[in-house]
Amino acid sequence: MLKIMFYGGAGTIGGNMIQVSIENTSILFDIGKSYDVYDRFFGMGYRNYPMEFEDLVISSLIPRELAGKFFIDKNVQKPVGSSPIDAVFVSHSHFDHSWYIPLVRDDVPIYMNKIAYTMYRSAVGKPRGGRSIVDKNVQGEIPSFPNVKTLTTENKSIRALNFDDFNVLYGPVDHSIPGAYAYALEYEDKLLLYTGDFRLHGMFSEKRKSFLDMIEDRRSDYREIILITEGTNWGSEEPFLNEKQVEENVREMLRRHYKDFKTAIALVSPNDVDRVRELFKAASLAAFDEGKYLKPFVDHTVAKLLTALNAEKLLEPIPRIGECIEAGTTTEKKGKTEPLRVMLLGEKRYTKKGEAKKGDWHGYLVHTLGVNDEDIIGMKELASEIDENDNSRYFILLSSFNLDPFYLKKIIKPSSLVLFSTSEPFKEELILDYEKKVNQLMVLGARIARVHTTGHVRPEDHVDLLARLKPDIVLPVHTEYPEYISHLLTMAKIKSRDRKWNPKYFICRQRDVVSF
Ligand SMILES: [Zn+2]
Repeated sequence: MLKIMFYGGAGTIGGNMIQVSIENTSILFDIGKSYDVYDRFFGMGYRNYPMEFEDLVISSLIPRELAGKFFIDKNVQKPVGSSPIDAVFVSHSHFDHSWYIPLVRDDVPIYMNKIAYTMYRSAVGKPRGGRSIVDKNVQGEIPSFPNVKTLTTENKSIRALNFDDFNVLYGPVDHSIPGAYAYALEYEDKLLLYTGDFRLHGMFSEKRKSFLDMIEDRRSDYREIILITEGTNWGSEEPFLNEKQVEENVREMLRRHYKDFKTAIALVSPNDVDRVRELFKAASLAAFDEGKYLKPFVDHTVAKLLTALNAEKLLEPIPRIGECIEAGTTTEKKGKTEPLRVMLLGEKRYTKKGEAKKGDWHGYLVHTLGVNDEDIIGMKELASEIDENDNSRYFILLSSFNLDPFYLKKIIKPSSLVLFSTSEPFKEELILDYEKKVNQLMVLGARIARVHTTGHVRPEDHVDLLARLKPDIVLPVHTEYPEYISHLLTMAKIKSRDRKWNPKYFICRQRDVVSF
């Protein structure tokens, strides 16, 4: 018998933690942080973090059944008895799917894509220690986790891990972060497919076959398919562009701006490596179109990710600190840039010996990440460089969390364009914070624009996918409107023209157990 149990991810966006059991073996799909639950108890204030392991259990951020046996505070505890979970499969490194990796007992393997692991390690690593119990279980500036087993895939092939009663298949899907995987559990003549978070309108989908396409190709091998799918965008009113359109819009906006003005600042989610690449490409081509020379910058957060990914040569070319941005187009036009530099949100500090001082981002960039000191520039120095009257154009890529307009006022001037390329703020706290930042930008005289598209599947693409896969049973997760699946299936049935296909769906809530 197959049993599915939702510790997290049902009826809400994020915090996926789904247990699947067959006979005596249990696995978890994702071990994410539920922001909904977290926000009920914790915030950004002083000491307002889960400081002790027990805090996570009382607030039900981690399930009580798994506390002490599977999740432990490794600094003080040893696990009790044998683990109720035999393996974990992490779909991607966004924290709502991966946050609790440091608390998993050491003898349970955690499987994830190699790039996803690099992204995770880099994201949790910091020059100074963390504040929450999870941060405290993270050792070192760029930590490693011995029980993580990294997975890689060749293009177009499905690979499998074998357990006693089933196989777990895995392969790539497109999402707004590289290294995203979907998984499928193959048992008897059935398949349980878990999409993780995915989209079908990114650059990836144009170039590569995804795991979902590969499952479609072998649909006839299975008598029954149970699909656990994300539904983030059900009920959303976003104007769904594709990534190519985003790049084109940015390029045109920057071209007009660079005609007369020097500085543009783009705000991104640093994990969105595809977007980072596209923005630089658009900026260098826009400057070139206007006969100008582009000087590109990133902040320390973006620098950290680019350096970690480049060190492992895992992805197709992404910008490198100290190197020029390559942006060729089919018309043989080439965008020209100066080497990419890191803008500090402060100043450079040195020891008496003239070395970068340890303990802040300057020291971390030089000593931990190996960035050349001459490729790093302090904020004041950059501000005076911008003031010089020359022909160059500045493009600064900032992680949206680091936007502090009044603090950055030397750089943000009436002639600056500030381009939001992140998702709309979606909860009260973020909206208030966003409004304050916009107000600050306005009094500084900046011009504000927004270009973004979702990292999650668009409803129209979802209909197409359902019609192709023809799942027998669908369980929605990662959505606030799970009931919407009923409409999508109706549309998919019309599209498929298959009268014999009669899909069912279940709306699950947290802690529901479904057996087949
Ligand atoms: Zn997610």
